[in-house]
Amino acid sequence: LAERLSKSLRNIINKGRLTEDNIKDTIREVRKALLEADVTLSVVKKFIINVKKKAIGHEINKSFTPGQEFIKIVRNELILSMGDQDNDLNLSTQPPAIILIIGLQGAGKTTTVAKIAKWIQNKYKKKILITSTDVYRAAAIKQLEILSSQININFYLSNINQKPINITKEAIQHAKLKFYDILLIDTAGRLHIDEKMMNEIQEIQNFSNPIETLLVVDSMMGQDAINMATNFNKYLSISGIILTKTDSDSRSGIALSMRYITGKSIKFIGTGEKITNLEIFHPERMADKILGMNKVISIIKDIEEKINKSDIQNLTKKLKQGHDFNLNDFLMQIKEMKKMGGLNYFIDKFSNNEILSNNLLGNDQNALNKIEAIIYSMTPKERNNPSIIKGSRKRRISLGSGTQIQDINKLLKNFDNIKKIMKKIKNNGISKIMRNIKN
Ligand code: GDP
Ligand code: MG
Repeated sequence: LAERLSKSLRNIINKGRLTEDNIKDTIREVRKALLEADVTLSVVKKFIINVKKKAIGHEINKSFTPGQEFIKIVRNELILSMGDQDNDLNLSTQPPAIILIIGLQGAGKTTTVAKIAKWIQNKYKKKILITSTDVYRAAAIKQLEILSSQININFYLSNINQKPINITKEAIQHAKLKFYDILLIDTAGRLHIDEKMMNEIQEIQNFSNPIETLLVVDSMMGQDAINMATNFNKYLSISGIILTKTDSDSRSGIALSMRYITGKSIKFIGTGEKITNLEIFHPERMADKILGMNKVISIIKDIEEKINKSDIQNLTKKLKQGHDFNLNDFLMQIKEMKKMGGLNYFIDKFSNNEILSNNLLGNDQNALNKIEAIIYSMTPKERNNPSIIKGSRKRRISLGSGTQIQDINKLLKNFDNIKKIMKKIKNNGISKIMRNIKN
């Protein structure tokens, strides 16, 4: 008995904090979400260890379940590990500030050089010069020359028979002579990491001493990007990373992997083939992408399992036939909700964060019991049409249910919000809303 007593006491004491035990399931979900986002396994392991260390012992906000509290910590940790304050470009040096763009062939270097030039021009109004050292394909230099003229930025064209290092020297000379603030240097990639490429870039880097050396990473490369980035980072000094082709169906975990593996910040993401398709990297958005979809899907599955199917199916059918969502339906949902955890998060995502605050319903049983009691104290007419509930009736209902008038007002407001969501579901169907979440 003493043992049982001490155990239950421990449970009570532990109730308000995250423990190994009460986040076990959510950790499993998070691990799954990270792997599905294609975060590399070693990074997943390290990340989970780090976040667990931070989470255990953490106090649980009253209206959250341990799982929700943990997800919040995971999200913060994702944002922290992918982002910092310095994802803008560093340009403060004696001009010309040199930006060297490196990466494998096809990664998007040449396109990105033009994008960055345009971005700097818009933001800082600097005098910019572009050059290309990609002497292996005549078309490559031409490609950048054309892009430069499209955005009205000067291009330094050197003799195609020059070595990359000599083009670099000439271009720097020219930039100094003509007082350019910034010189962007495009380099030749290779299909795979090779020594010749590394030596060539090293030579350029040593001579030009760039303020930024940006590694361009094709986000569609998936796991192969890990080796590639590790090698570049080993042989060259990199100041930041640019992830291209994030508009493709590449998975977002690469952002976290890159950051963990190189320790370098992601400065920009490429979001399309056009010159304007370049965005400053936002760690929050990336964190939500990494967690969001999978989390929502797993919660939906969970809900489908736990929910009393016939009731919900009936409701969906009724709604389709034009039935107006009322407090009886709401009551039914509340009862279902009592069986579940994680619902706030779901509703939050579901509504696209527009309508509902994170803590709309309050997931603790007390709040749910209160809502039930209030609805039971209403007449059938009022449940069908809550808008007829006025001041005197509110007082009666509050007496009958042993609650405060504010509780009733809050419930009615929440009901209105849920009703809006139901309308969205009715009009758009769940799949369309899901797509909105994804984007
Ligand atoms: P480089 O060999 O590294 O210089 O690569 P390029 O700049 O020539 O780009 C290779 C291909 O990727 C081209 O077809 C580009 O249009 C395309 N590309 C580059 N960045 C992006 C991006 O952010 N999104 C999409 N969809 N395509 C991109
Ligand atoms: Mg190129």
